[in-house]
Amino acid sequence: MDFKQYVTIVEDYPKEGIRFKDITTLMQDGPAYKAAIQALGEYAADLDADLIVGPEARGFVVGCPLAVEMGKGFIPVRKAGKLPREVLSVDYGLEYGKDSLTIHKDSITKGQKVLITDDLLATGGTIEATIKMVEELGGVVVGIAFLIELSYLNGRDRLKNYNTFSLMTY
Ligand code: IMP
Repeated sequence: MDFKQYVTIVEDYPKEGIRFKDITTLMQDGPAYKAAIQALGEYAADLDADLIVGPEARGFVVGCPLAVEMGKGFIPVRKAGKLPREVLSVDYGLEYGKDSLTIHKDSITKGQKVLITDDLLATGGTIEATIKMVEELGGVVVGIAFLIELSYLNGRDRLKNYNTFSLMTY
């Protein structure tokens, strides 16, 4: 399937000069959304992951259906102040901004194999922070899956020690 035909490019959003890749038009097409998640499932099939971890909000859009498809648990990574129990927190830089991410401290046990998911790899800051949290909790990152990779931002350079897959590359 040509997945790119379902992604809408929005010029100058959220700032001038950024060509935003809008995946909501992929999500609103049932067969395309399902095929995209299944394609990530094929990548994940050999990884033997115990858990899926994804950052809010679009990491949930990818990670939750993938977790259900694989029959695995899903662990949310959220912005500060959103998770109700004790969290581990990490600061990170975005393509356009700065923030901190949190994960429940008891969500991963030592040695568990983790597949990380997000909608899009830009600079890699979000995923680097997510990896850091998973590893601090004792998890082993066995794979990282994206719908989209913006190769011109070289986010993959930060992930070179990890098994990484992107369904679409721009
Ligand atoms: P990074 O941390 O720079 O790799 O940015 C990745 C995060 O920013 C992802 O969680 C995306 O949701 C968001 N993001 C950055 N650029 C875009 C875009 O063009 N479309 C959709 N999301 C984007």
